[in-house]
Amino acid sequence: MTIYPASIQTRGDSVYMMADTAGGNALAVFGPDMELFEGERISLPEKVSGYTNTLSAAAAQKSGKEFADCKICPLTVENSKVIRSLFDYTNPKPHKGHDVTIGLGDRLGLASPGHIRLIRGLDVFPVLAQQSMRELNLTGRTYDDVLAAAVWAVFRENYTDGYGADGDHLKTHDEVKHALDCGCTMITLDCSEHIRNEYAAAQQSAVDVQYATLPGGLVSSFEEIYLKKTFPIGGGSEIMFEEADFRRIVLVYSAAIDHAVSIFDGLIKRTQTDFEVSIDETLSVTTPQAHFFVANELIRRGVDITSIAPRFIGEFQKGIDYIGEVTEFERDFAVHAKIAAHFGYKVSVHSGSDKFSIFPAIGRLTDGRYHIKTAGTNWLEALRVIAAKEPKLYREIHTFALENLPEARKYYTITDDISDIADIDSVTDADLPAYLNHDSARQVLHITYGLILQSKTPDGSPLFRSRIYSALHKHEADYLTALEQHIGKHLGLLGVREK
Ligand code: ZN
Repeated sequence: MTIYPASIQTRGDSVYMMADTAGGNALAVFGPDMELFEGERISLPEKVSGYTNTLSAAAAQKSGKEFADCKICPLTVENSKVIRSLFDYTNPKPHKGHDVTIGLGDRLGLASPGHIRLIRGLDVFPVLAQQSMRELNLTGRTYDDVLAAAVWAVFRENYTDGYGADGDHLKTHDEVKHALDCGCTMITLDCSEHIRNEYAAAQQSAVDVQYATLPGGLVSSFEEIYLKKTFPIGGGSEIMFEEADFRRIVLVYSAAIDHAVSIFDGLIKRTQTDFEVSIDETLSVTTPQAHFFVANELIRRGVDITSIAPRFIGEFQKGIDYIGEVTEFERDFAVHAKIAAHFGYKVSVHSGSDKFSIFPAIGRLTDGRYHIKTAGTNWLEALRVIAAKEPKLYREIHTFALENLPEARKYYTITDDISDIADIDSVTDADLPAYLNHDSARQVLHITYGLILQSKTPDGSPLFRSRIYSALHKHEADYLTALEQHIGKHLGLLGVREK
């Protein structure tokens, strides 16, 4: 058994520490506070194994007191709530005011210690808990689970600089309310179901007919604000609306704006919550005019925006680099960054994992003020460790992922051609980790995570889940090192500096 040295801390007459036991991580509490937690009380003198001796020695060294007993507490949601009530730094916090913020979604709930070790001392605020409803459904976890995993990681690493919790890509009032009730400090409102994309591609005559049905008062106030005007956005750039195009923008985005205003007024307004508005999950690229209109309307109607996620030019597929011309991206992104800076919120980049070719531009063109979300890439790093350390398990997972790809494609879009993935029977154990450097293989493994984690054997027990968790528990040091390297490469290219 090992004790995590950073986790040893005192509160009044009580001593706390986290330890790695055969059954996974656990919390040990000595002194009066043990009454506050659920767990198993053990008498220290009666247990003479190295197990209790190590714990009591550490407690005695920290406090100068001898303890007759302690409580070994499982890392449950309930116990994490007690920790949050006693140690304020373990509570998620809003991140307004921090220039660089990064979402580090942790699908397995095991990656946060690696993320913390990496970002400690860097000028970046981490959103350690970040899950969308889709990810919760696919992994079989809840917001309580996701937040508890972050709380335990923060406590274990004694990370006191603050972190956020993002209810990611939420669509409805009930979803947002639930995430806030669970303690999320950031809400990313996905407006895609209210974006009327059909008007982006419609014939102008159809647009004009629909536009004519809008209330006259609304139309004239819009036109007075936006038409025949120029809006400077800094650096000599300006936004102008051409009438036919403006009508389209109004039709495409009005309902999304109404939705964002109603969620903000109903649930966010009287809180400190970071509010991100996402208009990225659509088919068409967000034009500068559309971005400006959405932002200006939200602000005019009193919404305090922390960040907006437009849909940028090019393709942001999961787990692989940007697809498209980097120079074209830079031209497009520069305008969005200027609009965000003009209004004072941050531009947010979704599906940000592994977009190495555009990271330098994101850092530079925003002047180091942006939000970026990464998620599944730490799952791929977990698989890289499994490929290196548990080749037999990796082979099973790999084969399963390919067989179940059609099902996963219902939730995620990836490149159609996967014929360049080498047949696993022709690959030696030593070469298995190389699959994690291969774009098509990465994508297949990236999008099948839910099926891999949730699949059951005929008798109802998990097919892979427990074996994956125990492999990562066994090889935790390798996993945390892999994460530090991989996410470290992201931060280096983004230009994140030391504090
Ligand atoms: Zn998104």
